[in-house]
Amino acid sequence: MAKASISSPTRKHLDSPVFDELGMERDPDNLYLQTIDAVLHAAEVLKLPHHVQIIMAQPKNEIMVHFPVEMDDGHHRLFKGYRVQHNNALGPYKGGLRFHPHVSLDDVKSLAVLMTMKCSLVRIPYGGGKGGVKCDPRSLTTNELRRVVRRFVAAIAPQIGPDYDIPAPDVGSNAQMMAWFADTYAGITNGTRDAMAVVTGKPIAVGGSVGREKATGQGVIDVLAELLPELNIQMKGGTCSVLGYGNVGSWSAKLWAERGGKVLAAMDHTGGVINKNGLDTSALDEHVKATGGVANFKGGDKCTADEFYKTKVDVFIPAALEQMINPERAKQLDCKVVAEAANAPTTPAGERILMEKGVEIMPAILCSAGGVTVSYFEWVQNKTHTIWDLEKVDDELNRHMVMAARRTQMMRQKYGVDMRTAAYMAALENIGEAYALRGIFP
Ligand code: NAD
Repeated sequence: MAKASISSPTRKHLDSPVFDELGMERDPDNLYLQTIDAVLHAAEVLKLPHHVQIIMAQPKNEIMVHFPVEMDDGHHRLFKGYRVQHNNALGPYKGGLRFHPHVSLDDVKSLAVLMTMKCSLVRIPYGGGKGGVKCDPRSLTTNELRRVVRRFVAAIAPQIGPDYDIPAPDVGSNAQMMAWFADTYAGITNGTRDAMAVVTGKPIAVGGSVGREKATGQGVIDVLAELLPELNIQMKGGTCSVLGYGNVGSWSAKLWAERGGKVLAAMDHTGGVINKNGLDTSALDEHVKATGGVANFKGGDKCTADEFYKTKVDVFIPAALEQMINPERAKQLDCKVVAEAANAPTTPAGERILMEKGVEIMPAILCSAGGVTVSYFEWVQNKTHTIWDLEKVDDELNRHMVMAARRTQMMRQKYGVDMRTAAYMAALENIGEAYALRGIFP
């Protein structure tokens, strides 16, 4: 692989003139500004026209809604919801809905940018969006959660649609919630079956796709299978550790083990577990589903966060929340590769330390693009009234992931940049071409 140069640990951050032009602050701790900084850096290396750079620097629409919901005890609570539509030059806005107490506008904006980049990198005809509701879904009853979802849909229904903006699940939301979402939207819009294509990640019985649940984890493994041999790392017999054992983490771990690798350690919000001979990833998954976390899993020894991060592995897979690999954790990591399965798991300062240590970072817009790719397949099946089998979904997913990995590698070799910059450049090249052909109205 080409050595990182332009986006080296010494590159200046938040130095694009676009920040001043648009009156944006230069707060290094703000996730949105960090994300845009990396995008603008890639845009400059690519010499993307100025007008495309300023378009990319801000979302097209930022929608914020407040809506009341009746709780089971009869009192009403006001909820805050977001839908950010970053860019639709390549197709309808697309991106998940996060239900979490810490959902904030800037974080949603940042995740929306990543969606624009992800969809473009894997060449699916979508733009980028993201949304969420500020709440703790675990503290709500099923009936309360259903009412929250339905009221949120009612609040944003005029701004979304199966050909305009298509949400999906993210942290804190699931297939059942997408079924309520689609049903409410179809009811409000007097929609035909086509209205159900307004969201993806639905249960199979209401138009979901086979293979969607494991898709993000599978995409991580497809990318690793393509890129690890160039680093002289074999998945068979190779070692990894996984941060987060939810949807993405558990599937990445299970599929890594299925290819003959060992998962030495796993950690989530309940604790950590380690087994030098390799964890039984399926048994751990069952344990997490039964108990809510990896803590107290009998198939390994309990470990502290420090021990977890210091475990020597070939590949470290962050699959939990954003910004968890900070400088302290980056110093502790003893791995050759970080495969970013979560969105934006590495802080810029953490990234600089990893690069100084010679760790290869496979960026989130590449590694975690499998979910949206199979969401796209679900939408295509809905729109064409067809049903694909698992073999077709897996084959098509693999093709998109392998091509995205190669596209990233080609950019990297051509420009001598790090892999994150290369992935952004491969995404921006496609968007730049669309703007060059479409022009700017009027
Ligand atoms: P999830 O809710 O199923 O799992 C999240 C995991 O993170 C859980 O295991 C949880 O215990 C863990 N976690 C939370 N806080 C933690 C902490 N402080 N320390 C350690 N672990 C902690 O979510 P998911 O769908 O697996 O998503 C994980 C990440 O992948 C998110 O960044 C999400 O945006 C991203 N992502 C998900 C998909 C998808 O298809 N689900 C697609 C692309 C990207």
